[in-house]
Amino acid sequence: MNNTDWNQKTVQELEDFLKNKIVLQGSEEYAALKIGWAVTNNKPAIICFCSTTEDVQAAVTLAGKKKLPLSVRGGGHDWQGRSVAHQGFVIDLEHLNTIVIDPDAKVATIGGGVTALKLINAADPYGLIATVGNCGEIGMTGYSLVGGYGLTSPSTGLAADSIIGAEVVLANGQIVTASEAENPDLLWGLRGGGGSFGVVTSLRLSLYPAKPLLAGFIMFPLSETETILHGYNKLMKSAPDELSAIVAFKPAPDGTKVIMIAPTWYGDVEEGQRVIDSIRKLGNPVMEQVTETTIKDLLESLSNFIENGHFHYCTTRWMSDVAPEVMTAIADAASQPTSALSGIGLMHLHGAPARVPLSETAFGLREAHFAVSALAEWTTEDTANADIHKKWVDDLFEKIDSYALPGGYLAFMGNDDKEQLANAHGSNLPRLQSVRKKFDPNGVFSREQVPLAR
Ligand SMILES: Cc1cc2nc3c(=O)[nH]c(=O)nc-3n(C[C@H](O)[C@H](O)[C@H](O)COP(=O)(O)OP(=O)(O)OC[C@H]3O[C@@H](n4cnc5c(N)ncnc54)[C@H](O)[C@@H]3O)c2cc1C
Repeated sequence: MNNTDWNQKTVQELEDFLKNKIVLQGSEEYAALKIGWAVTNNKPAIICFCSTTEDVQAAVTLAGKKKLPLSVRGGGHDWQGRSVAHQGFVIDLEHLNTIVIDPDAKVATIGGGVTALKLINAADPYGLIATVGNCGEIGMTGYSLVGGYGLTSPSTGLAADSIIGAEVVLANGQIVTASEAENPDLLWGLRGGGGSFGVVTSLRLSLYPAKPLLAGFIMFPLSETETILHGYNKLMKSAPDELSAIVAFKPAPDGTKVIMIAPTWYGDVEEGQRVIDSIRKLGNPVMEQVTETTIKDLLESLSNFIENGHFHYCTTRWMSDVAPEVMTAIADAASQPTSALSGIGLMHLHGAPARVPLSETAFGLREAHFAVSALAEWTTEDTANADIHKKWVDDLFEKIDSYALPGGYLAFMGNDDKEQLANAHGSNLPRLQSVRKKFDPNGVFSREQVPLAR
């Protein structure tokens, strides 16, 4: 079928083509669905489970004919439910999940709904890995389109840097290919610009050798927060490419609150042991578990720590340095969260992603930096206290905002953070807006994360 035939079809013909793939609000099947990591108040009118590019073409056309707001769901892990449009038409890609590994070229071709752990499992027999974050259930496409900070990023780059090609279904149902040879401007935009061009039905991603990995966590008493943050700040600013490390605040198994550093070392194990030892010496560890492992085992074990089905409120800022005032504010907030589920996290990006020139991809910051985020999380039984939990995040960021760089990581910002969302693209914003206008002139895939040109 050629590209224009879909638009010539009637609503009835499109519905017939998508028979058994459409779930309507109000149906029994709809009531039983759990389609997002987060709980939100978004109730789509129609969810269409697409398993082929043709399904996606038909679904995009049908949504247009029904004049319904369109959203695309990959792994469903956006904290604000942005993949599930309220009263809209959701193109669900869970079943668009083929994975083909070319071990010689070290390239994976994946369907738009493939999740991180599934890709890692498919690449593993070939001794290869992909750049992935710390959650196996995240959609590889949704994660790569916003940038994709990964466990091995200082060596292997942002996930966006791994994108070498894509197939995209545009709002008019047309299929376009993005590569260095075809539509290179679209490829540029897909690399960390936040999406908003069309439905990415497949991605070609570079893969990397599965080297030995040292990973786990070291927990320190919460009372040592400022000392640990001081040491982390210093250590990460001269960290080698083999090291990535996240700071998080978690309860230890006995319930006491701790500050935790979770390192990942992707390289020579002996050298890694020495570096991990220097992290240990930042304070007085109360508990630790750092072992030789694989990305596959690490992602599987991390899944046990991630809970679904809660409400969230999140924000984030980029910082080139964690100033002492920021450490004090984080220590204060971490010692009195309004919900036991809420947390603060710090990541550091250095190495390979910081060596890519800013204009080479759409990602908005190419200097070594920290990403400081706070996530308020509460259960569906605790909705009455939602504003209190949100205020905990806002109060922290009011104190630390003036120490931040403009912008922040798109995935962890909310749609209300308009000024910083625009800054998040840095000097790439005008080009991103013009690429978006070219491929989605009517803003059908409009997302607050890529502000429209004014
Ligand atoms: C527990 C958890 C851990 C996380 N850890 C990390 C981490 O380590 N590093 C990191 O960088 N981020 C991390 N994130 C953030 C995550 O990468 C982003 O929220 C990402 O956008 C999720 O993608 P998804 O496909 O799972 O989500 P979805 O909610 O399905 O989609 C997110 C956005 O991407 C769009 N999208 C998804 N697939 C497609 C497609 N095929 N075509 C077009 N648009 C598409 C959606 O429309 C939506 O706007 C984490 C999030 C969670 C909840």
